[in-house]
Amino acid sequence: MNNAGSGYKNTPPWYGGKLTIGPVIENGCKCQKCGRLYKIDFLIPADLWEEIKPFGKSVGAGLLCGICIIKAIEKLIDDYDAFEILKIT
Ligand SMILES: [Zn+2]
Repeated sequence: MNNAGSGYKNTPPWYGGKLTIGPVIENGCKCQKCGRLYKIDFLIPADLWEEIKPFGKSVGAGLLCGICIIKAIEKLIDDYDAFEILKIT
């Protein structure tokens, strides 16, 4: 198989079309809003998550980095608010 210009050294022999491989993330997740790789999950109340989750995701689904979570929450509030980080595991 000719792989010239494909960017991939080893195209699977069973593959016949355009090859699409997502980014390899060795340790962490990729934010579905900004694309940033992150290593800390923020566990937030389900009802709040439904208001800020990435567009088009089903109930309870989606991945956001801490920065995008905070930005989304800031858009929901009119005044100052505070959240407490209870622990890092
Ligand atoms: Zn993000």
